[in-house]
Amino acid sequence: MHISEIFYSIQGEGTNIGAPAIFIRLAGCHLRCIWCDSKFTWDMKSGEEMSTAAIIKQIKKYPCKHLVITGGEPLIQQSGIKELLIELPGYYVEIETSGSLLPQINDLIDQYNCSPKLSNSKNRPINYSAVLPKFPQEKTWYKFVIDNKKDLKEVKTMIKKCGLSNEKIILMPQGITRKEIAEKSPWIAEICKKENWRFSTRLHIEIWGNKRGV
Ligand code: SF4
Repeated sequence: MHISEIFYSIQGEGTNIGAPAIFIRLAGCHLRCIWCDSKFTWDMKSGEEMSTAAIIKQIKKYPCKHLVITGGEPLIQQSGIKELLIELPGYYVEIETSGSLLPQINDLIDQYNCSPKLSNSKNRPINYSAVLPKFPQEKTWYKFVIDNKKDLKEVKTMIKKCGLSNEKIILMPQGITRKEIAEKSPWIAEICKKENWRFSTRLHIEIWGNKRGV
């Protein structure tokens, strides 16, 4: 697989926030979010080609059985992920994805963290109603990156169009600095209270700032 980095940290976003986890960041992404904090992964060639055995050797150095496979867009390399996870039983596996590619390895994954891109990402339009319903609902959370109050309407439209469960919705502030997150968190938290959705901060940014490998 083309690997951008492997590191040990804590899960900074979503339902497992605070849990120690080994991060495998895969290279390559077909989207171009303007606020992307991992642009260094976009080009597949930016990653180091690593064998399954070499990846496992590195993973086993860490005292943890929780994997977060992220990117880039990890679902571009699903065959490699499949090969890896078959050789790695006993790990809890989360995948962080944009939710724009069909998932084909559901049996091997414990949790999908889909982050459908709203227009604030400035991507070309993505046909989410054709893809998001294909994720296994019982394993999937939908984490929306919120930049401004107008995003709420778009979130509601996507929930309706894609048939997403209201109980699986997470809002997270867009921001790559502590200041941005602190400014947006209070009003986003109020929306979450009103709509009965979850709120997620970006704990790794709050702790370490916008750095690689944390
Ligand atoms: S999908 Fe993720 S990796 Fe790709 S451009 Fe958007 S934020 Fe960056």
